[in-house]
Amino acid sequence: MANPLKSIEPAYDVSDEYRPEPEPNPEPPAWQDGSFRIGIHTSIAGDITGALDTAAKLGSNALQIFSASPRMWPRGGIRLAEADAARFRARRSEWGLGPLVVHDNYLINLASPDRVMRARSIQAFHDELVRAVSLGADFLVAHPGACLGSEKSQAIAEIAQGMRQAARGMKLSGLRILVENTSGMGSAVGARFEELRAILDATTDLPMGVCLDTAHTFEAGYDITTEEGLARTLDEVERTVGLDRVCVLHVNDSKTPLGSRVDRHEHIGYGKIGLKAFGRILNHPQLGPGLQGLPGRAFILETPIDRPGDDRRNVRAVWDLVGVDLKQAPKADAGFSMVRKKTKSSPRRTRRKKEKAKKGTVKARKTKR
Ligand SMILES: [Zn+2]
Ligand SMILES: [Zn+2]
Repeated sequence: MANPLKSIEPAYDVSDEYRPEPEPNPEPPAWQDGSFRIGIHTSIAGDITGALDTAAKLGSNALQIFSASPRMWPRGGIRLAEADAARFRARRSEWGLGPLVVHDNYLINLASPDRVMRARSIQAFHDELVRAVSLGADFLVAHPGACLGSEKSQAIAEIAQGMRQAARGMKLSGLRILVENTSGMGSAVGARFEELRAILDATTDLPMGVCLDTAHTFEAGYDITTEEGLARTLDEVERTVGLDRVCVLHVNDSKTPLGSRVDRHEHIGYGKIGLKAFGRILNHPQLGPGLQGLPGRAFILETPIDRPGDDRRNVRAVWDLVGVDLKQAPKADAGFSMVRKKTKSSPRRTRRKKEKAKKGTVKARKTKR
C-alpha cells in the first residue's frame, strides 16, 4: 500500500528554512552616552521615590541609595510592593537619572566564620538583589566582608560562594554586582586590588564589576594624590581587576592620612586627598566616561553633611572639577539640602550636648560607606 502520508509530505522549499531573527542590539541606556554621570548617595527616608527627587534637586544626573535600612537586619516586608517599585521606575525615567546604584546593607558579612551570621548574610544579600532588580537598578555595590579571624583566602572563597548562592536561580535583568574596595579597617577584605580580583575570578558566572572608592583607596595606602601615584595606582587596577570593570567611582576625600586603614570621608577638597588631586582623578582620560574610559561610569559622592547644603555644594564641586559650568549641569534647586537647618533642639539633645561639652567630647560625625 502506498504511504498515505507521502502525498501530503511538504516539498522542501529553501525559503521555508527557519532563520532565527537576529537579536536586536539593545539600545544602550541614555546614561551611557559618554557624558559625565555625577550623583550623590541620597536618603530614602520617608519614601523611596523621594530619593530620586532629592538627587535631581541636588543637581545630580545619577544617584546611589540604600533599598532598606542599612544598619538593621530586615524583618518581614523586605520586598518592595510592585506598585511602589513601578512608581519608582517611572519617576526615575521622568528625571532621566542614571545609572542607579544601590548600596548593600552594612551588616552583611558573607565571609563570617559564624554559620548563623553567614546564612543570614546570604539571605540578606539575596533580598538586596531582589530589591535592586525590582527598582530597575544598574549596579549593586557590595562590601566584600570581614575575615573575623579566618584566613583571607578562605574569606574570599566564602564571599564568592555566598554571592553565587544568593543569586542562584535569579534573573538579574541587567543588574551588575560591584565589589567595593575597602580601607582595610579591622579584618576587612578588599583593601588590595588583588583581593577584589580573586573575588571576580571565583564568580565568573555572575555579572560582576568593581566600585572604587577614592577615600578607601588612599586610606588603604595607594597614593592617588600625585600624578605618578595616580598613574601607578591605575596601572595596578588595570593589572588586577581591569579598568573596564570599574563601573562606579565613589568620590570622597579622606579625613585620615595615606595608609591609615581608617575609613572617614570628607568634603571634596577639604581632606588629605585635596582638590588638585581630585581634578586629576576626575579628568583622567582612563577614568572619565568617554571613549578612553567607560561610557556611563558614574562618580558618586558619599560625603558628610555637616551643614545644610553641603550635599549640594559637593555635587557642584565635582561638576566644577570636570569643567561643566552652572548652565550646562543639571539644575539644582537653590538652597535645597537633604539636611534641614536644626530648628529647636529637643530637651534631650540639649542635655546630651551639655554633657558632652562638659566632658569635651563633642566629635565630628563619622561618615563611612
Ligand atoms: Zn564608598
Ligand atoms: Zn561602601
